[in-house]
Amino acid sequence: MNAELIPLVLTEAEGRPAVNSSYFSSINPADGQCLQERYSDKFSDCKFALLGNLYASEGKPGKVIEVHAKKRTGDYSIVTALRKTLEVEYPDKSLALGGTFIIQKGKAKIHIMPREFSSCPLDTDEAVNNWLKHFEVNAPLICQSVLVSKDPGLDLRVEHTHCFSHHGEGGHYYIDTTPDSVEYLGYFMPAEFIYRIDRPKETHTVGRD
Ligand SMILES: [Zn+2]
Repeated sequence: MNAELIPLVLTEAEGRPAVNSSYFSSINPADGQCLQERYSDKFSDCKFALLGNLYASEGKPGKVIEVHAKKRTGDYSIVTALRKTLEVEYPDKSLALGGTFIIQKGKAKIHIMPREFSSCPLDTDEAVNNWLKHFEVNAPLICQSVLVSKDPGLDLRVEHTHCFSHHGEGGHYYIDTTPDSVEYLGYFMPAEFIYRIDRPKETHTVGRD
């Protein structure tokens, strides 16, 4: 079925099994609202068959980029603002960041895909948006984010952020809806490599943001 995956996996290593702490959000058939569940409560493996922008690290201690921001003054989400800043500062480079940020105060706009695929083709952004279910959800939200300042020719979605919470709300993050009171705290690392896995042979630009 379709859902929003919030991936959080400690991979398998010598003598230690993989630990899957991922969440996923789907539309609750009972009431049409958000249903957030732990992946490991439903599935015993780490497989998924969704579009994913994943950040991998060795998890070692070290220097990271801390971003602490209060009050939004523009129309960009914090992720878009970071990405556009990198694009302007380093116009010749493709820079990628991955990490986690918390929306500590305020509310955010998210979407969750319906469980069933659309019965008709979704060939415009408007059609995709009409198919998606949108919600306003409450802080605190823990957001897993990947962004690339410029697509290096890999046909990437240049930013993608999914969030979960400890109060049962989660999904695909767009932006906060409370610019005056919102507060963000995040930790990011620049990527050394970008890998594109299972790149589609035919591409399109629908539903990229
Ligand atoms: Zn998404």
